[in-house]
Amino acid sequence: MPSVARKPKIVIAGCGFGGMAAALDLHGLLKGTAEILAIDRTDRFDYHASLPELASGKISRESISIPYKPLFSRLGINFLQAKIIRADWKKKKLLTATGSIKYDYLLLAVGSQSNFYGIPGAKKNCFEFKSDVDAIAIREHVTQMFESCSLSEKDDGSTRIVVVGGGLTGVELVTDLKDLLDKVCARCGIPDEKREIVLVGRSEHLNPGFSTEVSDFIESYLRRQGIKLVLGNPVSKVNKEEIVLSNGEKIQAKTIVWCAGIKPASVAEQFGSKNFNNACGLVLNKYLQCIADPSVFAVGDCGYCSAFEVQPVLTALRAIEQSDYAVHNLCCEISGNRKHKMQYVPRYFPAFISLGRGMGVLSFHGIWFSGRKIAWLKKISEKIHLARFRHNLAFLEYFDALLVSVLEFYYFMVVRRR
Ligand SMILES: Cc1cc2nc3c(=O)[nH]c(=O)nc-3n(C[C@H](O)[C@H](O)[C@H](O)COP(=O)(O)OP(=O)(O)OC[C@H]3O[C@@H](n4cnc5c(N)ncnc54)[C@H](O)[C@@H]3O)c2cc1C
Repeated sequence: MPSVARKPKIVIAGCGFGGMAAALDLHGLLKGTAEILAIDRTDRFDYHASLPELASGKISRESISIPYKPLFSRLGINFLQAKIIRADWKKKKLLTATGSIKYDYLLLAVGSQSNFYGIPGAKKNCFEFKSDVDAIAIREHVTQMFESCSLSEKDDGSTRIVVVGGGLTGVELVTDLKDLLDKVCARCGIPDEKREIVLVGRSEHLNPGFSTEVSDFIESYLRRQGIKLVLGNPVSKVNKEEIVLSNGEKIQAKTIVWCAGIKPASVAEQFGSKNFNNACGLVLNKYLQCIADPSVFAVGDCGYCSAFEVQPVLTALRAIEQSDYAVHNLCCEISGNRKHKMQYVPRYFPAFISLGRGMGVLSFHGIWFSGRKIAWLKKISEKIHLARFRHNLAFLEYFDALLVSVLEFYYFMVVRRR
């Protein structure tokens, strides 16, 4: 009897934005010619961009998450809920809490973790803001602090929230927490002057990645909302219920949230120091393959392409975009069709920022728009991404390309011609 060739085994490690998009695309392209195993430490996909709204209680956990098991079993993709503890890339093996897993090809998409930059007390005394569990914990803690505060006694930080990090995540979180406080304070009869939200950023301006005009707009909008900005003064230490700034100033608060930076998830470190950059992750070639092992690909926050001097901004769209390239190139590797591999070329994406109820900002090639309609557009974009994953509707992935094309058309035909 002729021997039946063994199907290659592809393991997708981490099923966030990059891993989920890759699993769905691989399933569509390989049509049963390879065994696909998706692994994640959690049992559901969370839509990160909606976490600020989850923290403010505007939306439910169910509305922004997709349980993996039902989705993957419908598609015939094997799923394992397990935390990957170690990667032995020389033996092509991952070690999880429930045993070891061999692979022929690995697509690493384990994302990132909070970066505390070694600041004393930061990890111990701050809430992180990276998952649905964090968002719900923050909401419950804030609600409890405000509901149990004593209005007659002196300020003990119960009614003050400090968010550290002046980037996109910190900005979105403070505006949504402001909406939460509006509700909680109205219910508990807490006057405006008794409550405070403070956003602390190390740079002189918020969102250092954006134009000065956008930063100015966001700063003045936040101030109008009663949010206090402490900028250009990095945090040097975090004590229990208190942050210490580099100029010695101290701010007391019973809720301190850390949104000041990320670093690659620790699994990526295990590919050896030559193949790993502490700040950016697994070192990849222009095909998004690990430089030391072409059977390993990485996408999203845990890898970086060493061919680029300036690294593209890490976002959900970036992880999805990279998964398109990695999946195509992985299929070329499997079929031996290596000359058809595609070099990764990062596309320019618009940046959406949500500023709480009824306000959003869209920044694109230096032009920007703000207002309620932009907030809606961001919501629509989020709903489309979720629907694409939830129902495996591959055509919805063209929404981003369409949006970018419309904006590019507007930019070149209208703005550049002025
Ligand atoms: C609060 C917040 C708001 C954001 N807002 C936006 C936004 O508005 N727009 C935008 O484009 N981007 C936003 N981002 C950034 C965006 O979410 C990330 O860039 C994107 O998720 C990166 O995708 P990824 O696939 O690399 O990682 P992730 O989506 O983080 O997925 C990583 C997956 O790996 C799993 N994993 C990690 N370690 C292990 C392990 N050891 N074992 C098993 N599984 C593991 C995790 O459970 C997770 O499911 C936001 C991020 C946060 C935290």
